[in-house]
Amino acid sequence: MIHNSCWLDYDYKSSKPLDENIDTDIAIVGGGITGISAAYHLSNSTSDFVMLEGKSIASGSTGHGAGSLVAGLGLDLWQHIKYFGRRDGFLIYSATIDIIREMEALIKKDRLECGLEKSHGYYVVWEESQENMLHKEFKAVKDYGIKAKLIHKEKIKDELKINPRFTECLKYEYMSRVFDPAKFSRGLARDIKKKGIRIYENTNVIKIKKTKSHFKIETKNGTVTSKKLLLTTGSYLIKEAEIEDKRYSKEPDHAIVTKPIPKSILKEFKLDKPKLIWDTRIRYAFIRTMKDRILITGGERTINGLYEQLFHFFPGLPDVGVDYSWTCHEIWSEDARPSIGEDPKLKGMYYSMGYTWHGMTLGFLGGKLLSELCTNTVSSKSRHLLRLFKPKHEIKLV
Ligand SMILES: Cc1cc2nc3c(=O)[nH]c(=O)nc-3n(C[C@H](O)[C@H](O)[C@H](O)COP(=O)(O)OP(=O)(O)OC[C@H]3O[C@@H](n4cnc5c(N)ncnc54)[C@H](O)[C@@H]3O)c2cc1C
Repeated sequence: MIHNSCWLDYDYKSSKPLDENIDTDIAIVGGGITGISAAYHLSNSTSDFVMLEGKSIASGSTGHGAGSLVAGLGLDLWQHIKYFGRRDGFLIYSATIDIIREMEALIKKDRLECGLEKSHGYYVVWEESQENMLHKEFKAVKDYGIKAKLIHKEKIKDELKINPRFTECLKYEYMSRVFDPAKFSRGLARDIKKKGIRIYENTNVIKIKKTKSHFKIETKNGTVTSKKLLLTTGSYLIKEAEIEDKRYSKEPDHAIVTKPIPKSILKEFKLDKPKLIWDTRIRYAFIRTMKDRILITGGERTINGLYEQLFHFFPGLPDVGVDYSWTCHEIWSEDARPSIGEDPKLKGMYYSMGYTWHGMTLGFLGGKLLSELCTNTVSSKSRHLLRLFKPKHEIKLV
């Protein structure tokens, strides 16, 4: 078994590190999906910016994510309404659907080879006492206008050969896609570089100082002086630049990828078509099918627990074996509300973090919003989102 992300297990040629001093309008620190999205959106209107990435593009949580692109915050849709009200809950949901569509169009236009696939979402009830959660979700998605159907116990087996313990299931035309997050981010970085934008990899930022009008971003072999700074260092934010926000905690998250499974077995368990399955126990305990006849699963607290989860979902599944397993971090909060915007105290510093499981979608959205903010091109819909996600706590540079 390889203890690394399956997405990062190939030869990748990184860009050269920074070895000079640079003056620029905007510096982006962190080359995960958030930073890459910011760079991509900025590159449509300016080339006066640089990106500094400590290791390689997508080597952080992005390259360690499971690659599910799902709508909304890391919550059920009914919970969006509970926390944000119907109008704002729906607005957030539709913004994430739009961003997935934008990513899809971009993948097509730029021919990014990142294995994008559509998949059906199956939300299964872990135990009878949680059936009301599913009913609330069914009501909310219908109200929103998403095609969905409730499948009762006896009928589930027509869709999935799943543990009979799961008493009910909601199948919906969820805006759900799967892709390879490293190939996506690195492909986009390549295209951004073709426009003459400077991306430096293996360039760890050691210190950030704020003068009256500029940021001085220090690395081992050069300093970048910029008017604006986008801090897109994800869960590393807490280490490099502290944010005192008690709403957030940094949590480890794990994933495993099975060995290729014989077609006949996938067929028997009705896993031969793209599917993303999760349960009401915790929202991010999931199993998803991938190309190459493998399954990827996440959400349990340990790697062993993840493997056991497979057999819990699918009793009778043969011992298929594991090819990859890995652990990385993400930033989590109870109401899944990310912080996206300008630092309340440090003017000119912007950040986007706190995605609670849905960082692929929210990271791309966050990067887009940051780029709009620092080029003064915020649309009215974005303005409303930025109000909802406004950072409340300033970052302390260390
Ligand atoms: C196991 C697991 C599974 C997940 N599955 C999913 C999923 O299926 N769907 C989903 O939507 N989300 C998923 N997530 C969450 C998602 O991966 C993250 O929320 C998202 O990738 C965060 O992106 P980011 O760009 O903000 O941060 P990152 O990808 O972590 O990028 C930050 C970058 O900053 C760089 N950096 C840090 N410090 C410095 C420094 N001092 N100088 C220079 N560079 C620096 C890092 O090297 C890193 O590349 C998962 C997370 C984990 C851990």
